[in-house]
Amino acid sequence: MNQDATSFHSFTRDKLEAFFVAAGHQAFRARQMMKWVYHGGITDIQAMTDLSRKQRDWLSASLHFALPEVHTVSRSTDGTIKWVVRVTNGNCVETVLIPDRGRNTLCVSSQVGCMLDCTFCATGKQGFNGNLSVADIIGQVLIANSDLAQRGEAVTNIVFMGMGEPLLNFDNVLDATSLLMDDLAFGISKRRVTVSTAGVVPGIRALAAATDVSLAISLHAPRDELRDTLVPLNRKYPIDELLAACRDYLQVLGEKRSLTMEYTLIRGINDSPREAHELVVLLRGLRCKINLIPFNPFPGSGFERPSMESVRRFQTILLDQGHSAMLRTTRGDDIAAACGQLVGQVTDRTRRQERYRNLEQSGQGTPLVPVREIA
Ligand code: SAH
Repeated sequence: MNQDATSFHSFTRDKLEAFFVAAGHQAFRARQMMKWVYHGGITDIQAMTDLSRKQRDWLSASLHFALPEVHTVSRSTDGTIKWVVRVTNGNCVETVLIPDRGRNTLCVSSQVGCMLDCTFCATGKQGFNGNLSVADIIGQVLIANSDLAQRGEAVTNIVFMGMGEPLLNFDNVLDATSLLMDDLAFGISKRRVTVSTAGVVPGIRALAAATDVSLAISLHAPRDELRDTLVPLNRKYPIDELLAACRDYLQVLGEKRSLTMEYTLIRGINDSPREAHELVVLLRGLRCKINLIPFNPFPGSGFERPSMESVRRFQTILLDQGHSAMLRTTRGDDIAAACGQLVGQVTDRTRRQERYRNLEQSGQGTPLVPVREIA
């Protein structure tokens, strides 16, 4: 591979057209090439016979199709598959495929580790080492698709719920969603591509100005004093500001679509009827579906999953008050692939791993990250 070559998968349609035009070729040639690659599965540029010889030689010298290297693959007894992939900066991130009754949902990572350090999430404990490129994100989808192709299937739904905070890698995530939803590339409906955020309010507003991808909010608590302790970012963007941004985003989604509110239920922390009733009031009038996720344990988390009984009780209160509340069943926990369990291999740049190890050893439990660490 030519060392100076750029990954083909880093180009959105607009950018590929601009790339062709800048080299003196017509924009529609870019669209022809996208069809060869994404529809035809052809990466041998010389086989793209509707491009001229000259164009093919130029493209061969300029572009490559290499995917992130697969470090390990784990297959759960429930059909969930987890890939650990090595991305451009040399670290590893995790990607999880969740097949469910004809649906193939892929949970992709957007960053190496995460800056946000939500107290109940394993990814945050790894610290942070940079953003994934567009090609790193798209590469995760191509790796899953090549596995699924063996049984004549493909990824049908994408959720940005792997490692990282997608709205803190805004430009690359936006370009990746554009390719995922582009008919000339993956052609996945905007209803089936979901960006999930811990509540980066300026990012939600920027997203609203740029696209209409589906949006999930990691809420986890109905009041600031509790949310501050679970999602430290809340101290910067409290719940009322977050919900105001959500209302604006709903304008973009239009009448027929709704937001997803994620709520991880943690025993004795946010799972009592009090929180359920507060949530009912907080979300009244906001077009959303609530996803309840029983906490997935990981070593040293210091938190526990609630009993099934209290999970049901929480859900029933929401349902009785007219909210849509789905219980997310845990998948892939035998391969540590469930929500909040993704860790990859992160060379920490924030010294957070070290800090957590020290605290764990001294028995002081989990610290909160000062908000000024957050970009
Ligand atoms: N940073 C983004 C993307 C991660 S999505 C976001 O926060 O939305 C992963 C989802 O799983 C989030 O809703 C997250 O809060 C939740 N989660 C994290 N750790 C978890 C755990 N241990 N058990 C259950 N859910 C968890």
